[in-house]
Amino acid sequence: MSDTKRTVDLVVVGGGPGGYTAAFLAADRGMSVALIDDAPRPGGVCLYRGCMPSKALLHAAKVLTDAREASGWGLSFNDLSIDVDRLRDWKNEVVRKLTAGLFHLSEQRKVSFLQGHAEFLDAQTVRVTSGDVSRDKETIGFTNAIVATGSRPAMPEAFGLDDPRVLDSTDALELEKIPTSLLVVGGGYIGLELGTVYAALGAKVTVVELSKSLLPGADADLVRVLARRIDQMVDRVCLETAATELVPQSAGLDAVLEGSDGDVRTQRFDQVLVAVGRVPNSFVPGLEHTLVARDSRDFIVVDPHCRTAEPSIFAIGDVVGEPMLAHKAFAEARVVVDVLCGGSLTFDSRTVPAVVFTDPEVAWCGLGEDEAVAQGRKIVVAKFPWGASGRALTLNRPEGLTKLVIDPESEQILGVGVVGVGAGELISEAVVAVEMGMTVTDLKNTIHPHPTLAETVMEAAEVFFGESSHVYRRKRSQ
Ligand code: FAD
Repeated sequence: MSDTKRTVDLVVVGGGPGGYTAAFLAADRGMSVALIDDAPRPGGVCLYRGCMPSKALLHAAKVLTDAREASGWGLSFNDLSIDVDRLRDWKNEVVRKLTAGLFHLSEQRKVSFLQGHAEFLDAQTVRVTSGDVSRDKETIGFTNAIVATGSRPAMPEAFGLDDPRVLDSTDALELEKIPTSLLVVGGGYIGLELGTVYAALGAKVTVVELSKSLLPGADADLVRVLARRIDQMVDRVCLETAATELVPQSAGLDAVLEGSDGDVRTQRFDQVLVAVGRVPNSFVPGLEHTLVARDSRDFIVVDPHCRTAEPSIFAIGDVVGEPMLAHKAFAEARVVVDVLCGGSLTFDSRTVPAVVFTDPEVAWCGLGEDEAVAQGRKIVVAKFPWGASGRALTLNRPEGLTKLVIDPESEQILGVGVVGVGAGELISEAVVAVEMGMTVTDLKNTIHPHPTLAETVMEAAEVFFGESSHVYRRKRSQ
């Protein structure tokens, strides 16, 4: 065992989207950087057990459902079969390529990537403990540090049975096997993305959700469209229902399900996926030797420059709060590196877009209709139903909806919601519109290529003025 010491300009703890982006950009700006992560290569949750493996599997699920549905319009794929081992290998290969790419980029930038667990000794020093005996403990002095330690799945005590049939999102992405029946506890985005993957692969899926609707907090018009499709894909969706207990049996897990109407029933499942949220990894060892503070939900408290109460330590990504999304972490990384280089950037974007990669996808940015109503804010909503989109019909997917939330005085676009195939790609245009304070006239007068789903954004603007060729709406003044 050795204990070496060196000093760098910047130590980044956590190699996820926030951590590796900050490390790379800081190195590009001339800083000496050490990037520390438990995993053998950078990537974090996003690449190893989040965004990337889930999107690979969702793509496979979409190919399957598309192939099955094509028989409705004359194309039959009689030999449709699923080789779970090959599918898992392909998904793992996607992860391997991406993380290897990041490792290579670290080397090119001369970022010192250290695999190991970081512990703060004080506000100027970390110690890295690795499994590698030759480098067992390394002490690194720093001018500044960034905590980008991310988050992990929440596992309520009642479900923490230490039973391999109780899965969290990380386990579910391993795709060990396709159970005959799967209970998904939690109808948020992770539960729905993974639940629909397993349903497409043949599991009989039941989703239970405590709230009145799936995707709690998302716009009701958008959720309605997704919910209709999910109802067709899964065995059952139970809203306003709590899974309160799991009882292991030799032939499955008995789940106690309690409805808000007092109805209590027990149902047996092969496996249970618990997807009830994520908790921040904010109890980094040794942070108690610094001034870094946490809030009541254990998120690290930062100012608009992402600086903690300890002047030399910044924090970014999931560990500092909602929305726990990779692109928020990327943006925060840019803020910190700018500040470290003497700039004054703050994290003050008008909107952090959200995408649920189910089929159909649901995406939104800015102010939602329900949110505006709750705030008592005056708004006008313009909706373009995809049944009127030629492109949606050519894809045989006319169920979508594009919705604008508009300020009636300034005619500024405050928010946009889209549900439909490819909604996740369409939302970026809307993000630009909201971020730039674009008006609905700007959007209407911007020529969109035909026939595309993106036209639905322009046509929703036309609907606002009662000028859409494909939707008849009385003019606002009439
Ligand atoms: P993370 O990616 O969480 O990485 C933190 C890293 O720090 C981890 O590797 C961890 O092991 C390491 N670490 C922690 N403590 C220490 C320590 N003391 N020493 C060394 N290393 C440490 N977001 C999206 O934007 N789009 C999506 O489609 C999406 N899909 C998702 C699907 C799933 C199933 C899940 C679980 C998440 C998904 N997310 C998605 C969320 C996204 O993965 C996170 O928001 C993002 O990874 C957060 O990045 P981060 O930089 O904060 O940290």
